[in-house]
Amino acid sequence: MGKYDVAVVGGGIAGLACSNYLAKGGKKVILLEQNHQAGGCMSGFWRKGFYFDGGDQSFESGGIMFPMLKELGVYDQHEWHKIEYRLKTAAYEFIATSIDEAEQKMLDAFPGETGITDVFREVKGAAEFMMETADPWHVYLIENPSLRNIYRFLKRLPELKKWVDPEYKNKVCEAIKDEGLRNWFINAGYKGMPFLLFAGFWYSWVHDYWYPAGGIQSLMDSLVKNLEVHGGEARFKTSIKKILVKNGRVDGVLTEDDEKIEAEYVVYTGDYKRFVSHILGEEYFKPEFVQKVKNTGVTEALVAVFLGVDIPPEEIKKTLQTHHVIYLPTFEVIFPDENSDIDVHSRMWIEITCPSAESPKLSPSGKSSLVLQSFSSAKWQNYWKNNSEDTKRTPEYQELKKKVGMQLVKTAEAIIPGLSDKIEYMDVGTPLSSIRFTRNTEGASAGWSYGRSESSLIGKWGFVQIRTPVKGLYAAGHYTMWPGGVPMAAITGKIAANFILKKRPFAQIEMLYRLFGR
Ligand SMILES: Cc1cc2nc3c(=O)[nH]c(=O)nc-3n(C[C@H](O)[C@H](O)[C@H](O)COP(=O)(O)OP(=O)(O)OC[C@H]3O[C@@H](n4cnc5c(N)ncnc54)[C@H](O)[C@@H]3O)c2cc1C
Repeated sequence: MGKYDVAVVGGGIAGLACSNYLAKGGKKVILLEQNHQAGGCMSGFWRKGFYFDGGDQSFESGGIMFPMLKELGVYDQHEWHKIEYRLKTAAYEFIATSIDEAEQKMLDAFPGETGITDVFREVKGAAEFMMETADPWHVYLIENPSLRNIYRFLKRLPELKKWVDPEYKNKVCEAIKDEGLRNWFINAGYKGMPFLLFAGFWYSWVHDYWYPAGGIQSLMDSLVKNLEVHGGEARFKTSIKKILVKNGRVDGVLTEDDEKIEAEYVVYTGDYKRFVSHILGEEYFKPEFVQKVKNTGVTEALVAVFLGVDIPPEEIKKTLQTHHVIYLPTFEVIFPDENSDIDVHSRMWIEITCPSAESPKLSPSGKSSLVLQSFSSAKWQNYWKNNSEDTKRTPEYQELKKKVGMQLVKTAEAIIPGLSDKIEYMDVGTPLSSIRFTRNTEGASAGWSYGRSESSLIGKWGFVQIRTPVKGLYAAGHYTMWPGGVPMAAITGKIAANFILKKRPFAQIEMLYRLFGR
């Protein structure tokens, strides 16, 4: 094979973005992925003619994804559906097409709750900021961090500082008198996420959620094809156990089968805890950093129920009304953990998604694919009665995941009556499945915890860790720029590629971050 210019470890969106930019930039690149296909958290799969998105069910462009996909030449290969969310609770229900309308529906359900207006005033302020700077990362900071652009960004810092303060959300929501509603506003979403991310969800629900008509896997596959068109190589079922270093510089990678792949540069995009503890090794980092990485929590994992159902797409479309339905049986917010009881999932919120409602080709004729998801935990019930995340799945594990699957189906029947009688295919993906398919610690869905109190690693303004202590070795992906998610993972892949291609405008931002950010 000879020596590669760059070996990219991991074929999630970060590795795909990185390898595509490098191949387009003329580098001899190999992408190495342990799974049988690309995608990571954005993988999808087919069973008995039904297509399912395994993790991420749609995504926001965030001013990053679409410009990047256009630059790489894959945007036009897909038909893009703008996705809507319907939120249903016992008290109110609305389709999130306008923040004003959502506010009004809540006020109708809770008359006299002026606190709702206070919260939404701030949400709209943050949404305005996002709208105004819809392409801040991509254009302002990555491509063109001119003094003018940096100034435009810096002048919003006081507001940003307020919105990322972990206490600020609680302060704003305190004005809501109804205890259940207040609790939901404070705790909904990822655990402890700051106000800016809470507002970001409202903004994205209304303006910026997208789905490629062929399913998310089709986007991942087109990025693999594009890599190959530009002379790159993708190897699947190739797990990397070690990054090789020679005389202080990266020398390549070693596979689980002890094959050495030589490369002048390596970009690692997988789980960061394993990166520090095993794949590079603790000896390359400062002990305090190693300790922080060990102590820092990761984002919540999800449980997913994949259903092939005997319900025609037109009928399911009418029932669901939107691509995503979020249903809250109560305002209680639960984050399952190792101490949660055996029936915890029966009380959880669920998100129902039907990829085939908009794209009937994603299921057999006259039938539909459905995905039900909620938060869960890898450690729940002693690793789902499997005793450890590593061992072969026990019969008790199989039985438990079926039981949890049926609990989520039962909750979904509040939206789709008689659902359980229509099931033709069913499987359940647990946080242990996520660990197997993505290698993310505890099945983390978006890198480090969004709650800064869970983490000594995340500084005042977040976290950037694309460079590593080893020359020629870079890291990218949802652990390397907080808060993780699709756009952040993708942009870090581009930044790592830019470092290697010697396009270094981001270095100025990184320098500022290092000076002031912690
Ligand atoms: C259910 C769910 C819903 C989500 N919803 C959203 C959303 O609405 N919006 C949003 O922005 N984000 C969302 N996310 C998060 C987002 O999908 C991820 O943050 C993002 O896709 C991460 O991309 P990545 O490339 O950094 O990592 P990953 O997708 O984890 O990819 C890493 C890849 O590296 C491979 N790998 C790891 N170790 C090795 C090794 N040693 N050797 C070879 N290969 C290796 C893995 O197999 C994997 O394919 C969601 C995630 C989930 C799970």
